[in-house]
Amino acid sequence: MTSMDKSSVYTPKGIVFSPSYNCPAHCDHCNIPFDNVDTSIELQIETAKRVLAEGKALGLHAFQFAGAEPTLCEDFMVEVFKEGRRLSMKAHRPPTNCWLGGDPERLRNFFERLSDAGWSAGFRVSCDAFHARVPVEWTARFLATASEFFDLNRFIIGCCDIDEDRSRRRLELLAHAVRETGIEASVDCNCLVTSAGRIKIGFWAPTRPTWKALPDSAFSFRRVSTDPEAAARYDRDAPIGPFGCLGPGGVGYFWLDPNGDTRACCGNSNIFSSALVVGNVTREPLGAIYERALTSQLLNILARGGPVSLAIEAGAGDLLEGKYTHRCELCAALLADPRVLKLS
Ligand code: SF4
Ligand code: SF4
Repeated sequence: MTSMDKSSVYTPKGIVFSPSYNCPAHCDHCNIPFDNVDTSIELQIETAKRVLAEGKALGLHAFQFAGAEPTLCEDFMVEVFKEGRRLSMKAHRPPTNCWLGGDPERLRNFFERLSDAGWSAGFRVSCDAFHARVPVEWTARFLATASEFFDLNRFIIGCCDIDEDRSRRRLELLAHAVRETGIEASVDCNCLVTSAGRIKIGFWAPTRPTWKALPDSAFSFRRVSTDPEAAARYDRDAPIGPFGCLGPGGVGYFWLDPNGDTRACCGNSNIFSSALVVGNVTREPLGAIYERALTSQLLNILARGGPVSLAIEAGAGDLLEGKYTHRCELCAALLADPRVLKLS
């Protein structure tokens, strides 16, 4: 196989479990289409454990919990984490809105179980204006209780808003609420500095949810460029370039839906298109799904050059002229176009 060939091969880096699409926060900017997902379905723990072992046999060494809100599925997280640890697989830091901070007993019980299982991955805590249904006091309680079990230096806080000042105001409220729990806390330029650890803060612009109309003013848009150099840029103004998101240098993971549907990526818009579903782990082994994915023309183009290459190869270059907040939003537009779907 030439190096050119390798760059076109779908290359998942691990497994993302979405145990349920249940989330009570219903944030305005959320990418989960709450209008048409069944939030009562849960991925079976035994299925997930089996998939971890199958993934390990395929050479995958990492996994992550995502959602909606994964911490509401405590049994799933604890049991599947234990199995991953037994298999020497690495758990990545999961996102959380800290909803469990509203239920101190449940929160403590969850952390005790996770801690006993050997959890050290931390959490990626959301704190921005879009998460307004989660009071900062709950976020503060989540962090304060966590500090009794885990190293807060492993945590990060993500603020997703085009208005960084608005996020900083909310972070100041959070710092105040943390101090109320008895832990010293202040906000510096990129950390929540507490007496229990430094929590790094990241600011980024929200991606536009595909399932509901929100005003353009809530987002910043990026142009699309077919120049390969654009794919190597990471600054805020970088255009969406031909980055091989599902290739060896990309960000592809197997994403498991609550019903077992297995998607080829964990991208922001994967949930909108059945074109990225490559199988179902409740009916077949992950290895069979992987084999099938490797033969997909669509996935191989995405592996080579992401949605920019997909648009060009499908003769849908006109879609590159649209307004997009993120590569995956362009991808969602392409995967709704009949010219592109012919390739799958
Ligand atoms: S907390 Fe996260 S999963 Fe829940 S609605 Fe908000 S963005 Fe979506
Ligand atoms: S651009 Fe498409 S294939 Fe790539 S990560 Fe995003 S949704 Fe997945």
